[in-house]
Amino acid sequence: MKVALCCLYMPPGRKNSVTILDAPASPAFQTLFGLNFQQLAQLTQGLSAPNYRTRQLADALYRQWVESLDEVSTWPRSLRESLAAAGYRVGLPQIVEVFRSVDGTERYLIAAGDGQTVETVWMPEGDGGEQGDGSEAQNDFRRATICVSSQIGCAVNCQFCLTAKLGILRNLTAGEIAGQVVAVLKRQRFAIGRQRINLVFMGMGEPFLNYDELMAAVRLLVEEVGIPESRMTVSTSGIVPGILRFAQEKVRPKLAISLNAPNDGIRSEIMPITRKWKIAEIIEAVRQVPLRPKEKITFEYVLLGGRNDRLSDADEVVRLVRKANLPLKVNLIVWNPGPEMPFHMSDAETVAQFQQRIRAGGVPAYVRRPRGRDIYAACGQLKRTVEL
Ligand code: SAH
Ligand code: SF4
Repeated sequence: MKVALCCLYMPPGRKNSVTILDAPASPAFQTLFGLNFQQLAQLTQGLSAPNYRTRQLADALYRQWVESLDEVSTWPRSLRESLAAAGYRVGLPQIVEVFRSVDGTERYLIAAGDGQTVETVWMPEGDGGEQGDGSEAQNDFRRATICVSSQIGCAVNCQFCLTAKLGILRNLTAGEIAGQVVAVLKRQRFAIGRQRINLVFMGMGEPFLNYDELMAAVRLLVEEVGIPESRMTVSTSGIVPGILRFAQEKVRPKLAISLNAPNDGIRSEIMPITRKWKIAEIIEAVRQVPLRPKEKITFEYVLLGGRNDRLSDADEVVRLVRKANLPLKVNLIVWNPGPEMPFHMSDAETVAQFQQRIRAGGVPAYVRRPRGRDIYAACGQLKRTVEL
């Protein structure tokens, strides 16, 4: 397994070695983690076990977070052995490397099925992106956000994003997507129901270019793990057919659109995908999404110094979103730097003025706190860097 893809930009300081704790899954085994209730039911039927065994197995996988069949204590040993003999194992994704930021954020490399790794980020207290949706109100609660990957690498090629430098390596399966969440919750000893978790599908990859597996993972997380879809947000660079499918879903997370520019001209320069789907088409697709009471669409806007952070750009954003006439908020993200990238960060005053200008136009705007920049865990920095 090769995890250290590259590290072009290496701030001085400590070096980390790469430790692989779990052997990659052997193709001789089939993984249970990731199967939905119906699929598990077929398995238990195949073993001639009574129906109630399916619920026990699903609970062991998705509520108790077992790591081996031996731990499925509600099943008799003979049944566990039959399942193992049929070639099944649990296959809960394992965290193989941890990077901890001074701000408490943790970035994980998690082993995917074929020996690849994916990145997942744990942000205690979130990053402020949840502001304006009411979820920040309950401060008496332990709450945290997990940033989840949907692909290894990304094909979309946004010019300011480090993940884009990997290209696309492959899609993740539903089990690998949901498994990131469970692996991290288990490490954090998080109690679903008693503590509040938010999920953002904003890690590596474009979620809507892996639509079926993403939504299968969402359903597992909602129905089996027990995290409400209203605490999940999917961020897309604006894949219109994906947004239109999303609009039809009965169970769906909240939606964030990476706008990142006030017009198609600037957006095409930094997000070449704009040549395929223009901002107006994206907004038209977003309009099809039936919103829940109080739900807002988030428009994310990465501030790139001198490229899209002028006050005239803010005014244009206001005109754009007011014309869209949707319940929405703007989340401003200060660009997180990466090596050899032709951008620079906007200074604090520019960010404050930009935010102020958007608010003055009557549009709610928040600045996301950068989390874990020192460990390459912040937005757009996920490229499996292992040396810091
Ligand atoms: N592919 C999806 C989700 C992952 S990127 C998407 O693009 O929406 C999550 C967010 O990080 C997006 O809003 C993206 O615009 C932003 N982003 C990418 N690179 C960044 C960087 N270097 N600094 C700050 N934000 C970045
Ligand atoms: Fe892919 Fe999102 Fe990065 Fe663009 S910003 S390259 S869509 S991960």
